Amino acid sequence: MPEYIDIHSHISFPEFDEDREAMMGQMKEKNIWAIDVGVDFDNSKKASENANANQGIFASAGLHPTDGGIEDFDAAVYKDLFANPKVVAVGECGLDYFRGAQSQISNLKTKNYKEKQIENFTRQAELALELDKPLMIHCRDAYVDLLEILRSYSKTHGSKLRGNMHFFAGNWKEAKEFLDLGFTLSFTGVVTFARDYDEVIKNAPIDMIMAETDSPFVAPAPRRGKRNEPIYVAEVVKKIAQIRGEDEDKIKDRILKNSLKMFALKS
Ligand SMILES: [Zn+2]
Repeated sequence: MPEYIDIHSHISFPEFDEDREAMMGQMKEKNIWAIDVGVDFDNSKKASENANANQGIFASAGLHPTDGGIEDFDAAVYKDLFANPKVVAVGECGLDYFRGAQSQISNLKTKNYKEKQIENFTRQAELALELDKPLMIHCRDAYVDLLEILRSYSKTHGSKLRGNMHFFAGNWKEAKEFLDLGFTLSFTGVVTFARDYDEVIKNAPIDMIMAETDSPFVAPAPRRGKRNEPIYVAEVVKKIAQIRGEDEDKIKDRILKNSLKMFALKS
């Protein structure tokens, strides 16, 4: 079993092209696993290949609400990627009305960016249900619409609909709505320098929390402003324990178990 799992990183992004192998070598040395998260078809394919080639690396395949450009989510095409058992989740998918208004899709003539995001997300939620996989969700300034979609699938499919709210940035009231639907919350290195997440981290049940880096973005405090890497997930776990005022080893162990369970990860 690994020491830590970074459940959300973008190892197949170009930011790691120069030294990806060396970086993953370091992860192996420190026994840190990661889920390499795809944001469009090409990137998801790369993540799947990366997972195939490396022990302790898993992948998530999906279409990001804004980073995916103007791609339409085609379940039939993405389905091929899930033939690889190391592709463990559908996403990064979701709704982002904050960046959506400034993104390429805001120029679409046929539909507005919200409709486009909702359509792509709905298709991915349906694929996740069909494949019986968890969703890896990105949501910004769109909690109301996202919850409405999740609630309707939850009504028809119960706990088969499951997943994680990545980089959760909502308040406790919003957090509770997702927790009630059985969705977990994951936190990034931002928790090491911003205090906005403390209430949610303190209040959430310990079996509903996970840690991630979102590398190459948002490096934790000691590396702030530099490129982030999955090994720094240890800093996030440490800070979560501090914020909750609980024993670090205990929190580390629980977060690890939550991650293994949600994504059904096996060595
Ligand atoms: Zn991401």
